[in-house]
Amino acid sequence: MDRHELDELADASLRGDVPTPEAAEALLTDPDVPTLAMLDAAFRVREASWGRGVQVHILNNAANGKCPEDCSYCSQAKTSEVDIEDYSMKPREEILAEAEQAWRNGAFRYCMVFSGRGPSTRRTEELASLVREIKERYPLEVCVSAGLLDDPKAAVLAEAGLDRLNHNLNTSEEHYAEICTTHTYQDRIATLEAAKRNGIETCSGLIAGMGEPASDLVEIAHTLRRLGAESIPVNFLLPFEGGDLTPVGITPEYCLRVLCMFRFVNPTAEIRIAAGREFHLRSMEVMALYPANSLFLEGYLNARGSASNRTYEMIRDAGFEIVSEFSASELLDPGRAVEIKTREDLRPTEAAHK
Ligand code: SF4
Repeated sequence: MDRHELDELADASLRGDVPTPEAAEALLTDPDVPTLAMLDAAFRVREASWGRGVQVHILNNAANGKCPEDCSYCSQAKTSEVDIEDYSMKPREEILAEAEQAWRNGAFRYCMVFSGRGPSTRRTEELASLVREIKERYPLEVCVSAGLLDDPKAAVLAEAGLDRLNHNLNTSEEHYAEICTTHTYQDRIATLEAAKRNGIETCSGLIAGMGEPASDLVEIAHTLRRLGAESIPVNFLLPFEGGDLTPVGITPEYCLRVLCMFRFVNPTAEIRIAAGREFHLRSMEVMALYPANSLFLEGYLNARGSASNRTYEMIRDAGFEIVSEFSASELLDPGRAVEIKTREDLRPTEAAHK
């Protein structure tokens, strides 16, 4: 695929024409795709809907671990041996205080994530009441990720003013049984459809690097387009000590290709650089802002991310704009200065012999 074909792909995407599976797959597999031309073409599509804006999402891991499901990528699964901090739902005041903190740290969206198969009717009412209160107190968009939902539960959350429901597809239908046996791909689709029917925007993404062929990622991109997902978090599998899966085939350049492919197939969606931003993209991280228009700040569910300041600097330095009621200079630490080396830094062998 050459520059000219990439430009044509961008033009077609902007007209609303969905790229063929073959063209989308070539973005991932053709060794001759010129990286900068691909990013430039994807940026044209991104810019048409999102300009240079970057939405910042902050996650609250509001209930962690103790999950009866067996999703093999997840450190909270019943089968996982990853050493994480388990706790059931945080107290209400703690979640509210963290919502305030997220708003003050420049979050556009506050995402509350609850481990588990899905909420009970009582838990759904609690979530609805939390959503209502957060929206009354802070100018934040609110997203909830709480597992499987049916229509009555989605209706309760919609009535409370929930902006978005997160429920990731994670992988293709064909590959699904290999990563999880306690629920099905169709269960996940049904949850997304219930949210849509009840007027809640959907956030649904994937995890690349679980050994899936490139065609699976293409299939997910097309399925999410068909489902009308407003938001697509693109995760790259994180390796946890004691975890069931290790990342396969993930290079910084491949991450960029995946993000661009999702942008061409879903031109108006909010495409998010999600877990693995720092770990897998590394020195190429900033380039991901060309196809993607949002990211998570302050880490992921059980994995630390880079410091907020560093992320905000990256956004600003590349000429992108943080979408927040606070300005970049308010969000960045103005009193920053270099650290002075200590004697141990300057004379390490002397320190070692002490
Ligand atoms: S249902 Fe959610 S919390 Fe539970 S194992 Fe699967 S991904 Fe993890």
